Amino acid sequence: MERLKKALHYDRSTHPERTNATPERLFEILENVLGTKAQMHIQALTPLLGPPQMPVNDKQASQIVSYFDKANFDRNSLTRIIEQLEYSEISTAEAIALHHQFKIPVSHPEEDIIPVKGDGCWIMDTKGKWYLDMDSNYSATNLGMANEEIALGLYNQARTLISMKEDRIQIARTRFLKEIHSMMPEGLTQFYWQNSGGEAVDKALKIAKAFTGTTKVIAFKNGFHGRTHGAVAVTWNEKYRKPFGLHNSDWVQFAEFNNIDSVKQMLNKTGAKIIILEMVQGEEAGNRPAKQEFVDALWALAKEKGLVIIDDEVQAGFGRTAVKRGDWFACMSYGVVPDIMVIGKSFGGGYPVTAVVTKKEISEAMQYGYDGSTFGGNPMAMTAALIATRQMRERDITFNVVERSKQMMEGFKRLESTYPVVSDAHGRGLMVAFSLGNAENVSLVQKALTNNGIKASLSTGPYIRFLPPTIITEGETDYFLNKLEKAIASVL
Ligand code: PLP
Repeated sequence: MERLKKALHYDRSTHPERTNATPERLFEILENVLGTKAQMHIQALTPLLGPPQMPVNDKQASQIVSYFDKANFDRNSLTRIIEQLEYSEISTAEAIALHHQFKIPVSHPEEDIIPVKGDGCWIMDTKGKWYLDMDSNYSATNLGMANEEIALGLYNQARTLISMKEDRIQIARTRFLKEIHSMMPEGLTQFYWQNSGGEAVDKALKIAKAFTGTTKVIAFKNGFHGRTHGAVAVTWNEKYRKPFGLHNSDWVQFAEFNNIDSVKQMLNKTGAKIIILEMVQGEEAGNRPAKQEFVDALWALAKEKGLVIIDDEVQAGFGRTAVKRGDWFACMSYGVVPDIMVIGKSFGGGYPVTAVVTKKEISEAMQYGYDGSTFGGNPMAMTAALIATRQMRERDITFNVVERSKQMMEGFKRLESTYPVVSDAHGRGLMVAFSLGNAENVSLVQKALTNNGIKASLSTGPYIRFLPPTIITEGETDYFLNKLEKAIASVL
């Protein structure tokens, strides 16, 4: 009962991040756990409590506890009720309403699953239901949705030195620098840390412009690089650029992906010296890898013409697209080294930290005052990056990706041969997709997956995309493939 009291009336010394529970949340949980039997308890408790979304006070919390004491709930139900209160003291309805009321609507609000807790590749929602995660937050939570070691490191760091501006020497960053180099492509030794992928893409463009002394950039059709002004300007889909007047930026041209002649034509037309690409095009292309011949030709052209290649590995990096053990970045799997690489997403195991990484001679084009960042590479970010990247190496993530990728693609091929609606299964590592013919079918299958305990919300037109955590196990992959087949069979 002490645990119930703490979940209702939060203890600031142990959980300063919480508020007191609302009656609405308590009643929602009673319904989650007890079903129709909840009503009699809700009726008995309502007169004791205030308005639905008003957090309970100390007296009300005590009254709820004594009611529970007498009500004789079975142990299993009681544990589930307390657990759900501990993970959220606020109701699902209130969470949704406040988002609609106060959030600038830049994106479609996903309301079907409201996650409150992670455990490996699994997430629990406000209703106490568990889902296998096949999105990894766009590949940001490759090590799972919760991480004890990162939590402990961040707690220790926040207690000692929570922030430090970018330009001051600091120890957390030094620790990171002592450990990271074994993972990096050869020659990419110089780091500049940022807080989001888009920001790091912007800074990569600035570095390339400073080094070449030119401003023209060739990007690719179906490429995606983020939402900051510079990143949007080099992102292909006009719907992201046009509202902001970035659809006819005279410094960016788009070439055909996997078509070296198109790149040559653009170079001739513009005289550009800078190229930016995703080696596996994600968001806008449905996880479409570059062809080896194209990569080889592009690197040869860059050598011949003195071009600077920016490889955006924000999504593809940290083992996600491994083809063999040790392929920490897509470029390694293609056997090439870019001039500048952008990394992010899973870099901090879910904690926001990104970076531009480049060669020494390129980095030297940036002079004091050319850039700056208050939070770039702060001690919390560096601590998360140190622990996350160390875990990736210790857990042999690239090996797991290679094995799970084979298993996943075999499963997709089986679906292709059984269901005519499934086609064009493709991908690299654990950045995979297949077509379901049209976007409506994708939406139907995604809903069926959600109902069957699989969180899979990514798509590009007719393609359903998957980016499971790179720690996903063989059993979990089988479980997913099973549910996927059931979902397709049930709706298509
Ligand atoms: N680059 C690529 C390839 C991405 O996929 C993304 C995000 O999805 C970004 C850049 C932007 O990253 P962020 O959302 O952290 O700004």
